[in-house]
Formats: sequence, structure tokens, C-alpha cells
Amino acid sequence: MRKTAHTAIVVRKGSENHRMLQTAEIPPRSRLYGLEPYQVNTLWSESLTSYLNRLGWAHGVSPRDLVVQELLASFTSKAWLRSSPGLVTVFSRKGGAMSLNGMGTFALEGVTRLSQLTMRSDLHLLTLDSWIGNLPPSRNIRIVPAWCERCYAEWQEQGRALYQPLLWMLQVVTSCPHHKRRLIERCPQCQKQQSVIATAKTRPGECTQCGRWLGTPSTTAEPEVDQETADWQNWVIDALEALRLTSLFSGPLHWATFFSRFASGMESKGAFSRLARLTGIQRGILYRWMDGSDQPSFESMLYLCYVCGVTPLEVMRNHVAPLKQALQSETAYHALRSPRSLRKPVNQELCRELIQRVLDGKEEPLGVVQIAQRLGSSVATLLKHFPNECAVITQRMQDYRMQRKARRIAQLCEEVRQAVMARSTQGIYPSYRRVSALLSQPSSIRQPEVSAVWRETRHALGIGLSQINRKR
Ligand SMILES: [Zn+2]
Ligand SMILES: [Zn+2]
Repeated sequence: MRKTAHTAIVVRKGSENHRMLQTAEIPPRSRLYGLEPYQVNTLWSESLTSYLNRLGWAHGVSPRDLVVQELLASFTSKAWLRSSPGLVTVFSRKGGAMSLNGMGTFALEGVTRLSQLTMRSDLHLLTLDSWIGNLPPSRNIRIVPAWCERCYAEWQEQGRALYQPLLWMLQVVTSCPHHKRRLIERCPQCQKQQSVIATAKTRPGECTQCGRWLGTPSTTAEPEVDQETADWQNWVIDALEALRLTSLFSGPLHWATFFSRFASGMESKGAFSRLARLTGIQRGILYRWMDGSDQPSFESMLYLCYVCGVTPLEVMRNHVAPLKQALQSETAYHALRSPRSLRKPVNQELCRELIQRVLDGKEEPLGVVQIAQRLGSSVATLLKHFPNECAVITQRMQDYRMQRKARRIAQLCEEVRQAVMARSTQGIYPSYRRVSALLSQPSSIRQPEVSAVWRETRHALGIGLSQINRKR
């Protein structure tokens, strides 16, 4: 994995070569390639996990191996280890590897270590710390990667680099600012979520599970979001850009004072009740946010600002006049939307497709619960929209489970039969204990069907039951 020299030294023979080696200034080498991150210092800056994937592929190794061996092994805080023992679990724990893109110790150590390995000084700009400062990563960073299928298709058509922007990692960003289409979290082919850190087999823009291309050139693939969502998302992007630029020039943002400042705009009588009516958020929850006893998501904080017509920077700088005005007149600056309703809708067409594939036997057998999990939907939603299909799937799943159980028992019975014969052939008494020791699952002999076969085989070999019980 060692980096080849930045400056090639022409190998020459004899004294000339010797002279050149003496005079040549060999720049310090980095252990890993110092790949240039994409779009750094812009709204479309690459994310750290995207960079790690590209770094692994550039070295011809699995990005996962690179992360485990070069990055995690040298971490000193082991913050990730405390919450999930074992090196590899960082990949399976929900949001584990994703938090490398975030704020906090894990991301910070990742950046520090990677900067040493690549000798680059700009990698801190690939984490959200450089954008939104010291907010907690949970509920603010996505658990699994999302992407815009039109962006991938467009970049490929234009011969541009394929990568995962930091923008796509934020939960509050639900649609692409360019294409006004919802970011998607599941491969349209296999319906599976994407690994954050890929293996050696995958390439940029390909599904980490089935390897198919994730871009969709067709404009019909994912409909444009409605105007209300588009307005909200445009506002979010503007707010993020302002926060990013402020962080860049004035240092990391600190949110500690955000709610005390916000509350200073709510000193008039009945302000909490009015804010609750404007935002659709319960007054009790608003109290807890303002006094710091509860921490809302970044999305909720932006939503409060959106409704009241202030920007987060205005609040942090104590420019809360628009907020006071909105509360006095009890007029929302933007139309009332509950943050929950801003969540992505479940795509009915995707549901129908997966259900049909399960019914056609083109998928592994799945129950309704598993289908709902794959689609990011709920069982109740599926039952509501596809009642007949769900009934057939449930029945089939029950049949499938029963058949699978029957096959398993038949297999165990055969194992017992073979084990009794084997002991008997070896001249060893085929007792309950000795036979069970030969089974792939020793306790399976306790199952009535299996122990019956043990008795029957004994009987067939001419060993009486009384004898068995005596020697058991
Ligand atoms: Zn896009
Ligand atoms: Zn796939």
C-alpha cells in the first residue's frame, strides 16, 4: 500500500546516477496516496466515507480492509469500540461507519489519522463538523447512504467523477437541489441499502449489494418533489451554505446558545402557545428544547427557523426581530408543515414491484415484516395498500417455514440414523449420549421425531429398548 514517489527519479547508470541520488531532494512520502478530494470547499464537497472508498479502490484493496487496518486499528479513543465491541461491527452497527462523516471523536480521529496517512491538510472539510459544528451526529446524519440517481447518471454522461457528496449524508436533506428529486436509500434493482464502506468488488456509483448501476437517466424514474417540499429544501440548502461559509471563515459553529437566543425572541406573553400553534409542535416539547433539557434534531431546529422566518445564523447572532414579529402576529413565515410530514413518502411503485417479485418467486422468500423493512415502510402501510397480496405472502411464508422445518427434521433424523450405524459399525455401543456427540447439533436428539429414529434404528439393529434405557 506504499505510495510510489511523487517525483520520478530517472534511473541512470554509473556515476551520473550516484550524483543524482545525492543531489535529488526526495519529498516526504505519505503511506497512502494523497488523492485529491472532490469539490472540497464547496456545497458539493465529497464526504469522508466516499473518499475512503476511493482511496481503497485506488490502492487496489478493499476499502473495508483499508479502514480496519489503517484507520481503526490506530484509534486511541476507541469511542466506537466502547459502543460496539469488535473491529468489524463498526460496519454493521447502525450508523457506525456513517459517523465518520460527522461530528465528534470518531470523525475527528478518522480525519487526523487519514491526514497523517495521506499527508493532506484539507480532509477535515470532508466531515460535517466543518459545516454544522458541534451538533450530535445521531438523528442528524443518515444511518445509511442516500443518493440522487439523476446526479449519478448525469455525471457519468458528462464523464465527471462519481462520488458521494457530504450533502447527501445529512438527514435534513431529502431531495437533490439540482434535480428536485427525492434522494433514495435503496437500490432500485435489489431493494437493499448500501454499505457505507464498500468492498473491493464495488465501483463508484454501483450498488454495494448487487453491483448494478445506481444512476437513472430517465426523467420518469423518480418524480419531482412537490412545490412545498421543494421550497423547504431550497431554504435548507441556503441555510446550510450560509452555515458552511460562516464555519469556513469564522471557525466551527457552537450551538450552545441557539435556544437561549431563540427564547429571547419569545419573551412576550403567550409566545410558547403561539409558537406551538405555528409549528404544530407541542408546547411541552418546545419548553424542553428552550431550557436545554432536550436536544431536538437539526431538522427540527431548522424547521423552527423556517416557520418563523429567521435563519439559524440570525438566531445565533441574536437577530431575532423577525421571530418576534412572527409570534406577535401569529403568522407563519412559511406554510405550516410538521417536521414528520417532511419525511420521504413511501414509493408505492417500489412496494408493488418488490411484492410482485416475491410473489413471482424472483426473490428469496420474504414475509410482510421483512418486505416492509426493505422498503423502509411499515407493515400497516403495506397491509392498507396491498391487503390481498399480503395475505398470500403471509400464507406462503407459513407454508415455507413449515416445509423448511420439515426438511431440517428429516436431515436431523438422517444424521441420527447414520450416527447409530457408525457407532454400531465401530463396535461402540450407540447410546443416547454417544450418538448425540456425533450430531451437528447434539441437542437435536431431544426432539421427539429425532429420538424416535434413534430408537427405531436401534431396534432395527436388534438392540432392545430395555437395553438402551439401561445403558443410556
Ligand atoms: Zn441530483
Ligand atoms: Zn442492488
